[in-house]
Amino acid sequence: AHLDRMAEVDGAVHAFLHVNAEEALATAREVDAARARGDELATLAGVPIAVKDIIVTKGQPTTAGSKILENWVPPYDATLVERLRAAGMPILGKTNLDEFAMGSSTEHSAYGVTRNPWDLDRIPGGSGGGSAAAVAAFEAPLAIGTDTGGSIRQPAAVTGTVGVKPTYGGVSRYGLIALASSLDQAGPVSRSVLDSALLHEVIGGHDPRDSTSLPDPVGAFAAAARGEDLRGMRVGLVRELDTDGYDDGVRNSFHGALDLLRQAGAEIVEVSCPSFDYALAAYYLILPAEASSNLAKFDGMRFGLRVEPTDGPLTAERVMAATRGAGFGDEVKRRIILGTYALSAGYYDAYYGSAQKVRTLIQRDFAAAFAQADVLVSPTAPTTAFRFGEKLDDPMAMYLNDIATIPANLAGVPGLSLPSGLSDDGLPVGFQVLAPARQDERLYRVGGVLE
Ligand code: GLN
Repeated sequence: AHLDRMAEVDGAVHAFLHVNAEEALATAREVDAARARGDELATLAGVPIAVKDIIVTKGQPTTAGSKILENWVPPYDATLVERLRAAGMPILGKTNLDEFAMGSSTEHSAYGVTRNPWDLDRIPGGSGGGSAAAVAAFEAPLAIGTDTGGSIRQPAAVTGTVGVKPTYGGVSRYGLIALASSLDQAGPVSRSVLDSALLHEVIGGHDPRDSTSLPDPVGAFAAAARGEDLRGMRVGLVRELDTDGYDDGVRNSFHGALDLLRQAGAEIVEVSCPSFDYALAAYYLILPAEASSNLAKFDGMRFGLRVEPTDGPLTAERVMAATRGAGFGDEVKRRIILGTYALSAGYYDAYYGSAQKVRTLIQRDFAAAFAQADVLVSPTAPTTAFRFGEKLDDPMAMYLNDIATIPANLAGVPGLSLPSGLSDDGLPVGFQVLAPARQDERLYRVGGVLE
């Protein structure tokens, strides 16, 4: 049914970069056979899933949305992909994204844009616009995204889906093509909070192949999502994330959801996180710095594209320059240049060093806020889905869309976005819930009651 749906709508939506119908059907048939034999099956066995194309899949192309990895076929599976396969989940294909997950609109993909199923003239968010659009368009019931600064939560917000960024270290990063290693986390995209909880239980848990993987057992996320009320829970409204920088329609929807939380028995308290005002600036130094280092391996020697200069001597450096010049798009080049600059001798302390100090201040703000509240809430994004081209020539305007999602990545805390109704423009609005590190269950408890 999902493959049929993809054939019907993906020409217009373009959520997928690669479809593997045969393999997906083979998995589905195996699950059917196992069920017929009376074998015990995993909870999500047979439920199809789409995977963001920055996560490696053995034998299936993985491009990271970049020309530099065109036609590259990974020789191994990411740990989370292994876990999907072990659970008997058919992998439908790989979803579109901004190149190397840099962006908030999926317009930076080297393979064309993904369209928002709510309005095909609008962006589906980014970088994981493909995963969110696939779920919103009923092409896939579940998807996997990655979130370095909001790329699961913001696309979920603007497509009316649910997206979860787990605690840093909660889901293995083994097999994720790294953007910024200290910020990256993979997580679920779905149409309901319970679905995300069930998927999180499949992909979560310790992995010895990821040195930053937490040793914790997988939480009881689905049980938390099935809770009935929020009695005794203190919900912190972050003052710095409820300003007139957010569209009126977004704020109205947000405050409507707060009323629902009150009705469910939660106590709303106001908290202040003053350093959040510097989160965006710190993130856009730390991310490019780490990305410039992580992307150094794409040099024309090891993976994917190799371009040899047509004139002059054939030196390694000239092959690297020609390959990177042709293989990377503008946004990737912009960030590599910014990152190498911020890390260079003489500037390191002023830029990267200062940004790391801001990161510590943000962690302290979270610690103080979580002493007053069990979870924090805000709108997920300041606007609903914008039109193609609206922010493409203005990187600052694009970056500002991440204002509410970035603090969680800088502190490693988990976050969930769920729909809180429609704005006055008829487009979906996202409601964000944040919890302390390792307390991801709280996200599902609040989300489960709200939806
Ligand atoms: N929009 C953010 C950025 O461009 C988020 C990226 C992400 O989470 N992968 O960096």
